[in-house]
Amino acid sequence: MTDQEIREYSSFVRDVSRWVDEILTDQKRFAELKRDVRRAEKRVGDKAKWLLKFAYLDLAKVNNIAFNDLRLEIFAFALSEYKPPKEFSTGFFEPLPYLFRVFSLSRLGSTNSLVDFFQSELRKRFDDSIQGRWWEYRRPAPVERFRIFRRRSPEGVHYVDNTGGDGISVPDILLGIATDVLKRERERFGICQNLRCGNPFVAERKNRAKYCSPKCAAYVRVNRKRGKL
Ligand SMILES: [Zn+2]
Repeated sequence: MTDQEIREYSSFVRDVSRWVDEILTDQKRFAELKRDVRRAEKRVGDKAKWLLKFAYLDLAKVNNIAFNDLRLEIFAFALSEYKPPKEFSTGFFEPLPYLFRVFSLSRLGSTNSLVDFFQSELRKRFDDSIQGRWWEYRRPAPVERFRIFRRRSPEGVHYVDNTGGDGISVPDILLGIATDVLKRERERFGICQNLRCGNPFVAERKNRAKYCSPKCAAYVRVNRKRGKL
């Protein structure tokens, strides 16, 4: 991270903390959650790699502790991509407090189906992409809400408007963020050129690697030398 990124990140964390303060009244639980999210963010690391790995993870083999870790990783993933608006205005759809609310409901259990759903939606699209089809995701349209007739209240006669995005679900927020990350990082994705492997992989840098691992690169090199390929 550059100094600039660190500064941006810490101001971002301060903003997040402020919002979360408003959401969670239990300070102890809030401190725990913050610490857990920070750790989860370290585990996520490279977001493109994490997405591919998560999409093909065998959830049936993940125990409860690892599952809770995974849930926090999803949250940290979303959080790291979230851009707080410069001007905070009421009526603006804020996915972050919403996500926090969902993820802080319970430390285990309540969001299992969310993890499963997010994974299956990702895997479906990765499968399509590996087959040469589009990555496709339709973003939900914001809901417009306004009253036609003016209301009388102690403050006077006024219109009541609400441009909230209540119709946007957590899976939609997550899939939207994943789509943004993949669109930005797609040049790092490849299919291993070792015909006996063919696994999808994420390279360190864009348009560089042909093989998913040094093992596959060596396999092709050795067999080419022997005239087998
Ligand atoms: Zn390979």
